[in-house]
Amino acid sequence: MRKPYREYKQFLTEKFGCRVHKISLDAGLTCPNRDGTAGTGGCIYCNARGSGTGAHERALSIREQIDNSMEYLRKRFKAEKFLAYFQSFSNTYAPLPRLKSLYEEALSVKDVVGITIGTRPDCVNEEILDYLAFLQKRTYLCLEYGLQSAHDRTLKIINRGHDVATFVKAVDATRRLNIPVCVHVILGLPGETEEDMLETAKFLAGLDIQAIKIHVLYVIKDTVLEQMYLKGQYKCLEREDYVRIAARFLACLPPHVVIQRVTGDPHRNELVAPSWTLEKQKNIAMLVDYMETNNLKQGSWFKKSFASISQALTGVSRNSKS
Ligand code: SF4
Repeated sequence: MRKPYREYKQFLTEKFGCRVHKISLDAGLTCPNRDGTAGTGGCIYCNARGSGTGAHERALSIREQIDNSMEYLRKRFKAEKFLAYFQSFSNTYAPLPRLKSLYEEALSVKDVVGITIGTRPDCVNEEILDYLAFLQKRTYLCLEYGLQSAHDRTLKIINRGHDVATFVKAVDATRRLNIPVCVHVILGLPGETEEDMLETAKFLAGLDIQAIKIHVLYVIKDTVLEQMYLKGQYKCLEREDYVRIAARFLACLPPHVVIQRVTGDPHRNELVAPSWTLEKQKNIAMLVDYMETNNLKQGSWFKKSFASISQALTGVSRNSKS
């Protein structure tokens, strides 16, 4: 059944002509917000695994990680082709020769038709972007930037270690080379109202981006956020609130942006709260139901004038390509 938003699964099928699945990889890298370079000790919701699979700790090579997942995905989802997703930590945060060798190892595996690279906006430079532009001449490639919120005050609270202007600069440099951009956003960050979150949606709607991932903030063990939660300094979003805000967030986005994710996928053993985030399929069903009941679909509230919001938040003028 078609979703009221531009679903990633559908996008991949149209692009590659068959069932394509992402394979999450842990390349054993780190991030400047954790290793001390940005000087802050990490985002408040991140634990030592950095949203990762932990596969590198188990000493699995990139090829072994891909081989292991392929077998399962072929059986479970009838996947035929695969995208290598460098997920854990910041996957452009290493010397270029090391990055080249990691990406090439993934692309050398039969049936891998492209790579997607998760990173931070302060972890790209001209040398890396030029290489990625060269690489995408022979394969599908997407760069995924963590932003989380378009509000600098929130980025300070969550200890991101970069600001919104740095993100905009990275997106501009990436798009100048025609490399597709996916942006990660978290709803329910400390101190944010629904209006703040929808402003993030409008801000992104005014930028030249190709895809978005959204999920609710969840509390995992051994994080600063866990301490805040236990002391009563942070309250998680209720499921109904998340569903409503996510639906409205999608309504603000232009219809061409691919929605790669609408829920989180916490590790059961690491999750502190909220427990409803474990019910992924139910959450998606509730979101779709809310959108249909309220006659909303992606793009319902989109306006070209949203470009002025990104201009107001960054002081830089730019045009939407929608
Ligand atoms: S940028 Fe990613 S890996 Fe680095 S501290 Fe934040 S969540 Fe963790």
